[in-house]
Amino acid sequence: MPGGKTPAVPFKEAILQCLPQGGGLFIPESVPDLRHLLLHMGEETSYPELVAAVSSLLFEGDLNPFSASRISEGAFTFEPELLRLDQNFSVLTLYGGPTGVFKDFGITFLAALLEELLHDDTAMVISASRGKTGVSIARAFQNRRNIISALLYPDENIYGLARETYAPEGGNVIPIRIKGTLDDCQRLVGEVIRDRSFSERYKVTSANAINPGRLLPQAFYFLYSFIKLKKHITGELLFSIPSGNLGNLIAGLYAWKFGMPVNGYIAAMNINNPSGEFIKSGNFEDLKSGPIVPTVSSALDISRPANYERLVSFYKESPAVMKNMVYTETVDDKHTLETMERVWKKYRLYLDPHGAVAFAAAEKMAADRNFDGHIVILATAHPAKYAEETRRATGQDLELPDNLASLSRPAEPVAEIKPNLEDLESAIAGYSCAP
Ligand SMILES: *Cc1c(COP(=O)(O)O)cnc(C)c1O
Repeated sequence: MPGGKTPAVPFKEAILQCLPQGGGLFIPESVPDLRHLLLHMGEETSYPELVAAVSSLLFEGDLNPFSASRISEGAFTFEPELLRLDQNFSVLTLYGGPTGVFKDFGITFLAALLEELLHDDTAMVISASRGKTGVSIARAFQNRRNIISALLYPDENIYGLARETYAPEGGNVIPIRIKGTLDDCQRLVGEVIRDRSFSERYKVTSANAINPGRLLPQAFYFLYSFIKLKKHITGELLFSIPSGNLGNLIAGLYAWKFGMPVNGYIAAMNINNPSGEFIKSGNFEDLKSGPIVPTVSSALDISRPANYERLVSFYKESPAVMKNMVYTETVDDKHTLETMERVWKKYRLYLDPHGAVAFAAAEKMAADRNFDGHIVILATAHPAKYAEETRRATGQDLELPDNLASLSRPAEPVAEIKPNLEDLESAIAGYSCAP
């Protein structure tokens, strides 16, 4: 990886460098063929078993089967759960992780993978995020050997970090507030990585979605759904994905590239869907990103998806195939809340607003096409994190599990800086862990 003008580098380098020096994103040059594996794995295969088997093929040359098992068992003390609702619909719950959101899956795997790949080397993982994803990154990286995790927050509130995990207190997490927006934070991460001397001095990489080591492991739960379902379904198989930065959609497309039999993906969006328009038109030069309208499915309120470039590269490679592979649906707030209510009444299942957007999109698709196949709906957040919306939609009170209750506790940064390299260096210097 990657293809095109940038020279190919081994997967390990891509994870440790995060971004190619010449610009753009790392994109796998070739992908493993997992058809044989998928044929042999079945309902009895556990998630860590699947992850170990797939990742030793995916990262061939960098991970032997023992390392792959160590990573997958160390990372996945939580698992996705596939709930088969009826002949047409299943829900894949992805909120069993430490912070109750699907992002735990990719980030936790990346943290375990980095720790394993580094051996006695060190790394400084610098990531830009808002409070919610920041805490997912902090939890995944805390206590990892030889890794410091610097979190760049925009000028907003910070939540859920425990003081004893901070580097000045002997831990390895450095929360830094940047006087600027999330865009400024993201730009700074890119600058740091592309500043060769800075990034070599501190061995910088990132846990943002730009890192292929966070994105590719999200393909694992698509494969997992397939092996759980394959004996039970006959017709078409689709996945419905609540889509913001398009990470899950890209991961699903990789699962297909790895040889998973699937008929398509529904990119389910709320009313902020400039990339939905793009997908429909196929005119990817022209992504119109207007102002954001706040919705109940706030993680989908995105104007320019971080993985846009990766999606474009799929379209460039095989435009005709992609046209029949990715469908988009738009779901507004009213419909989202109605779906939360309907799903609760019909299946006694709580969905968070993002899962409900995907569910509503799946229902629309099934109705429009007189569909008699099966659609797996990704439920991306723990419904109890959206207690207010759940109460509005169902009249029910959900109690927050203990591990999620601490996530909204206010926290303080260790430094507050302007978005530039010099200030960032003085904030992190002194904490790089000596090998
Ligand atoms: C981040 C997030 C999404 C969007 O996922 P992408 O992979 O960025 O498209 C959906 N739902 C929830 C709950 C999220 O936190």
